[in-house]
Amino acid sequence: MKKILSLVTLLYSVFLTQGYIIDDPLPAPTVALYNDNDNVIELTTESIKQIGTDKSIWMVEFYKHWCGHCQRFVPTWRIVADSLKMYEPHIKVAAINCATQACEDYMIQGTPTIRIFNPRNIPYWSELPSDWSAQLYVTNAKSVLRRFYPEINMNSPYPVVVPVTTARPPVTTKRPSNTVKVTYESKPDKVHQDDIEKAIQYALTTEIPMKPHMHYPEMSALYKFLDSLIKNTPNLKEKMKNFLISLREWPQIMGFTSITGKQFKERVKELEEFYKPFSQTAEDFVYCKGSDPQFRGYPCSLWTLFHALTVNAESVVFQNHGMAVVNPVAEAIIGYVDNFFSCKDCARHFISAALTMIYPYSDKDTIFWLYTLHNEANRRLAGDTTEDPQFPKIQWPSSKNCPQCVTERYNYMTGRVERVIQFQIVVDYMKRIYGEENIEMNNLIDEQESLKESCLATIPITQREQCNKLMFP
Ligand SMILES: Cc1cc2nc3c(=O)[nH]c(=O)nc-3n(C[C@H](O)[C@H](O)[C@H](O)COP(=O)(O)OP(=O)(O)OC[C@H]3O[C@@H](n4cnc5c(N)ncnc54)[C@H](O)[C@@H]3O)c2cc1C
Repeated sequence: MKKILSLVTLLYSVFLTQGYIIDDPLPAPTVALYNDNDNVIELTTESIKQIGTDKSIWMVEFYKHWCGHCQRFVPTWRIVADSLKMYEPHIKVAAINCATQACEDYMIQGTPTIRIFNPRNIPYWSELPSDWSAQLYVTNAKSVLRRFYPEINMNSPYPVVVPVTTARPPVTTKRPSNTVKVTYESKPDKVHQDDIEKAIQYALTTEIPMKPHMHYPEMSALYKFLDSLIKNTPNLKEKMKNFLISLREWPQIMGFTSITGKQFKERVKELEEFYKPFSQTAEDFVYCKGSDPQFRGYPCSLWTLFHALTVNAESVVFQNHGMAVVNPVAEAIIGYVDNFFSCKDCARHFISAALTMIYPYSDKDTIFWLYTLHNEANRRLAGDTTEDPQFPKIQWPSSKNCPQCVTERYNYMTGRVERVIQFQIVVDYMKRIYGEENIEMNNLIDEQESLKESCLATIPITQREQCNKLMFP
């Protein structure tokens, strides 16, 4: 029976390949969660466009390589691809890294997103939940196959295990027991300005434009986020500040009450060309660089940015007239995570953890609130496969870096020794690590840029174009 099945599959692949895409003409993306040893096809910005004309049914996972949930999803998707391999080319299992490839046209709300595209019919896709078992995806795929290709024999058992002979990338493999763990204790806590700027850059150029449409709630979250960046980003360069202000003013000047992600992306691009806000930002992460490309990076830089915003926020005087008020920085962070952080699971965890706490009010409360939420995420993720072995997750800061941050106390009622977090000492430590004066910066000075920067700083907003003419006659 098996032989007949493989013969049928072979005949199909030999005779029925006309109109199917067999080879991806473009090179595979550089950072990817799947490799050549997988039956998952890694798509690119260009190759995904061909799905619309292809006769195959395509099951596509839209992911971002830094997203923990996407990394945990890899084994499931591999089983799905292995199990459906025998039905190629009628069905193909693919994935696209939306962190490096353009996915805007697909209106993804978060990652991972799983879609089945009907043959030759790109507008007609169905979206499947991202928490299913491999078996459910395969069952669903088979029912779609049955609809479009009723002639295929579908009696194969689940899962169809394709022997894997070659090694697969480290994302799914258990961490080898002999991995040298650099003890966290040995590293001092340091923050780099480039990591903060890279978080801003990635948020504005990649994450926010992923939103297909932004209406009132998203627009409000966007404004609060930009306001907080303008007011609270430490060491904010003049050109970055002007860039952010222009971006913040743009929808209101244009009278837009809603915008699309595409419009936002185009505007960011135009303003980037003019102000060059990231021209001095490093190409790669500095203290957020992982030991492998899928580790750390953007999520690490986002935490860094958020902590820096809370620490560098001026004390806010609330005139709340008895009404409950949330600190504007906390509001900006919640709004960003809830609306724009594309790792769906991360956003869900963060918001539900935040809901169990009282929303912070003063600047000190806000610093401590975020520190607590971050440690809650560290506790949940410690030892997870998504953890960088070189940077194990701990209840931060380590006792070596801040011995007084957590003390021990004997509880006579319970007869146990308890850990006591010292609020003021933690807040002071946070202020020291994330304070403007302690953030490391590179000394790269672009002379022409700094001339333009000082020009921009001195002339009225309406004459900004003159600086460009002055610099690039
Ligand atoms: C809002 C948010 C929610 C997330 N939720 C999830 C999730 O649900 N599932 C998932 O898989 N991934 C989640 N992530 C990603 C995850 O938390 C890490 O960012 C990622 O795994 C990279 O870890 P890292 O080792 O670079 O350290 P990170 O946890 O990113 O920390 C970056 C740096 O911040 C410092 N730091 C650590 N703890 C604290 C603290 N308590 N206070 C102040 N500074 C601290 C350290 O110097 C550390 O190196 C989330 C990220 C964000 C921004």
